[in-house]
Amino acid sequence: MSEPIVGRMLIDGKLVGGLGDQWLDSVDPVDESIIGRVPLGTRDDVEAAVVAADAAQKAWVDVDIKERSALIYKLADALEARAKEISELETRDTGNTIGPMLRDVHTAADRMRLYAGLGYEIKGQTIPATAGGLHVTTRVPFGIVGRIIPFNHPVAFAASRLAPALMSGNSIIIKPSEQSPLSACVLAEIYADLIPPGLVNIVTGDAETGAAIVRHPKIRRLAFIGSVSTGMAIQRAAAEVAVKTVTLELGGKNPMIVCPDADLDAVAAAAVRGMNFAWQGQSCGSTSRLLLHNEIHDKVLEKVVERVAKLKIGNPLDPSVNMGPMNSKAQLEKTLNYIQIAHQEGARIAYGGHRPVGGEFEKGYWVEPTVLSDVKMSMRVAKEEIFGPVLSVFRWSDLDEAIEMANNVDYGLTAAIWTKDIDRALYLARKVESGYLWINTVGTHFRNVPYGGLKNSGVGTEEGLDEMLSYTQIKAINFAA
Ligand code: NAD
Repeated sequence: MSEPIVGRMLIDGKLVGGLGDQWLDSVDPVDESIIGRVPLGTRDDVEAAVVAADAAQKAWVDVDIKERSALIYKLADALEARAKEISELETRDTGNTIGPMLRDVHTAADRMRLYAGLGYEIKGQTIPATAGGLHVTTRVPFGIVGRIIPFNHPVAFAASRLAPALMSGNSIIIKPSEQSPLSACVLAEIYADLIPPGLVNIVTGDAETGAAIVRHPKIRRLAFIGSVSTGMAIQRAAAEVAVKTVTLELGGKNPMIVCPDADLDAVAAAAVRGMNFAWQGQSCGSTSRLLLHNEIHDKVLEKVVERVAKLKIGNPLDPSVNMGPMNSKAQLEKTLNYIQIAHQEGARIAYGGHRPVGGEFEKGYWVEPTVLSDVKMSMRVAKEEIFGPVLSVFRWSDLDEAIEMANNVDYGLTAAIWTKDIDRALYLARKVESGYLWINTVGTHFRNVPYGGLKNSGVGTEEGLDEMLSYTQIKAINFAA
């Protein structure tokens, strides 16, 4: 077994161990062994990062777009050059399977290049307010962006999301999740020599470290990806300190509505793909509620169960494996608890529902991919985000009933609609309360298409041009006639 990795933070261009000299262990969810440790960033570390980020931003704001782009392209290349190593580490740290983790690194680099190319879209307007004068708007950066990320796609979020913040003239402080922080430390290592000191700071730590970022009065722009409860806590805490702009990418309880005219084999494949079993369902966008029309319910359920039964669970570093362990003990317990609640409330376990036993499963955070049928909207699993490999299957007979089921949750992130009837597809797309919809497809985040949630799933969108513009404020300049 390899030696545990000792990660460092990146503050003011230096790789540092943290002023508090306290450390957080990172655990491999396959066998619960400690694979690394990272500094537990303190309020003083955050302060040091803010001082550095402030100084760096004051210089960076005067750098031309062309040069900003050049730096981002360089960062993307440097990330991809170590894609294999990063994805292997990420797989061990998260429990997610290796194929998608490698794709995450390439997708992150691709997104960085997208923003590097979009720089000239950070534009203002001219407004004909007076006949002889000139009235223009320009976009100015906030200064320092605080970016807090969750455990499920660490490097993808850390790397891809720094690009639009930098392109629009900000510096950034990134805090990865305490559950899978190791790839951010590799990022710190790669970027230490490539960026002006302080422009990108990576501060590892826990909720308190995150809270120190949120509460710092000089960080006026906060961007968060994580759970609804943390998102709400961040909004509250931020408002106590200063007037801040906060964007939130939160959870989902996403419906996949299947009409009787859909291609049933394609539907079954999509239902399994949409659950993101390759990272144990731990995805905000997973279509975890399958809403099947009565006429096709039994056939599709059977096909879905057949496919789920074929998923191979095991060590996520093995490319033939389809599903690894849950990210943490807490995630495992939460998932098992929800399966038990569903059972008690009258749902049927159509497949899975247990911890696998024996051999390699004796240690680690394993749970079977699970399909629940006979789920009713009155049950907790119908409305609460499990964030695990649990697909809930419902029945409907009338389109408006399906819409009511789709919308009767506090979330509104993604939705998939399956029908060959274009009128029905458009009607559903109009009525379903989700920020990102798929028609006859599922799962893919398309390049430059804004991703974000309605209702409790969030505020703002990311991944498109709007994300970059959201790191700017508008300044109006009026010239006399
Ligand atoms: P989480 O909310 O527990 O933690 C996310 C991050 O917030 C971590 O870095 C954590 O240290 C930090 N944090 C916790 N409390 C904080 C506080 N009070 N102040 C500041 N920072 C704090 O989320 P998680 O368990 O890591 O991730 C799972 C959640 O993320 C799910 O709900 C999932 O749906 C959501 N998610 C959403 C998207 C999206 O794009 N909408 C993407 C991925 C994950």
